[in-house]
Amino acid sequence: MGSLADSRRNHASWARRAISALAWAGPFLSRLGPVRSRLADGWEKKIRAETEKQIRSGLKPPGAIRDRQEIGIAIMRTVERALMENRLSRTSLDKFLNVLVGDAIINKGDDNAKSRFVARFGTSSPEILLISPTKACNLFCKGCYADSGATREKLEWEIIDRLITEAHDLWGARFIVLSGGEPLVYKDRGKGILDIIERHGDCFFMMYTNGTLINDSVAVRMGELGNVMPAISVEGLREKTDGRRGEGVFDRIIQAMERLRRERVFYGISMTATRDNAEEILSDQVINFYFQEMGVLFGWVFQYMPIGRAFTLRLLPTPEQRLWMWKRSRQLISERHLFLIDFWNGGTVSSGCISAGRDGGYMAVDWNGAFMPCVFMPYSPVNIHDIYAQGKNLIDVWADPFFARIRAWQRDYGHKKSLSEGGRHGNWIMPCPMRDHYAELYPLLREYNPTPVDENAAAALQDPEYREQLIEYNRSVGKLFDPIWESRYLHPEKEESSKTA
Ligand code: SF4
Repeated sequence: MGSLADSRRNHASWARRAISALAWAGPFLSRLGPVRSRLADGWEKKIRAETEKQIRSGLKPPGAIRDRQEIGIAIMRTVERALMENRLSRTSLDKFLNVLVGDAIINKGDDNAKSRFVARFGTSSPEILLISPTKACNLFCKGCYADSGATREKLEWEIIDRLITEAHDLWGARFIVLSGGEPLVYKDRGKGILDIIERHGDCFFMMYTNGTLINDSVAVRMGELGNVMPAISVEGLREKTDGRRGEGVFDRIIQAMERLRRERVFYGISMTATRDNAEEILSDQVINFYFQEMGVLFGWVFQYMPIGRAFTLRLLPTPEQRLWMWKRSRQLISERHLFLIDFWNGGTVSSGCISAGRDGGYMAVDWNGAFMPCVFMPYSPVNIHDIYAQGKNLIDVWADPFFARIRAWQRDYGHKKSLSEGGRHGNWIMPCPMRDHYAELYPLLREYNPTPVDENAAAALQDPEYREQLIEYNRSVGKLFDPIWESRYLHPEKEESSKTA
């Protein structure tokens, strides 16, 4: 029986060859429809065959392997659609396929840096760094933690540059996420966020943005850079988007999408599901509008997290809504091949929680330099300004005991655990220590005492009602999701044999 690492390596080298061929042939393929679709059909077959092999190896939950297969096919079909519609500029196609898909996703970063990391720590390094360069934002959305207008809370240019350089050189990472505030508001030493992206041309950047600052020249520059994919925040259609983000924002977003499409940039949307809009954002009307009419190529769905300004548990999608979202997003991925990720219901794709610098995972740093396991776990044991003042670097951040403890939780929960080992294999459709397992996370927060990054995070930690209600919510979701995990993911063969019996 081959190891999980062997099977992943074989899969990676095959996929890497396919990507190189696609990057080379992309511009021709956009004109050669039959060849393109034959190629895509062949790759789909290959992905399905690889899936069956992995399932037979018995190392990972079979249902999780199938989820990864479906999203892999959806990504491949998205690229095919993008080629068919000539949606990517030569630079965007090259950077998307070679830097994002090839280097960041398939090769998973730089081999030398990664080998050094493994040799030193016995585990692989994180692959993603999330940076929130500034708290400033040009909008004032209801419930958002960011500041409207100018703010002094931002990272200096040199710090951001050094962070990316260290993620690249010390972790071997190639994928940087920019969040906010609004990244396009960022300015320091006369330089903006696109200057940082330009300076690090062998990294790929995903930028969460409200889209309203994507004017003609920003769109042109993004098209020329090719290594940035904006994820524009929407709340649904006009009424919901303007209702939360402000009058006229929807129209400005539509204009931004038209500009990005014209400049052939790879762009998508990011939506937050609440109790009030969960069904709407995944409705045919909204999905068709963005994916068909507005030409977005990917969509991220985040369920509301009770953190940030004026947090409230009332806005959490109900357990029943969450279950509906799980079914609906799977349907959109497998039947319509949409590159759509429903966090947290899609935790199978990442083998659970990826926070705290897990191998293949990520860590986040905010505008004050506070490093936290994840933007949705706003507790920071270490600040980058202190780290640099002490002559340390990103490796020392990663090695912090609080982060190490979260990683131990992830392993215990099932990450890297072979099914044949037996023991607990936690439910990856409820992967989050913060929103799904607060009863387990809370004692760790007390024991390690990381600093809350703002007054809301501090208030949530002190509030017994918040704790009790969140734990109760976790129990209710578990009642619906644990049986699904057991029957669909861990033992689908039992379900299939009971159907045929
Ligand atoms: S802490 Fe939660 S939100 Fe953050 S990566 Fe883990 S599962 Fe995702």
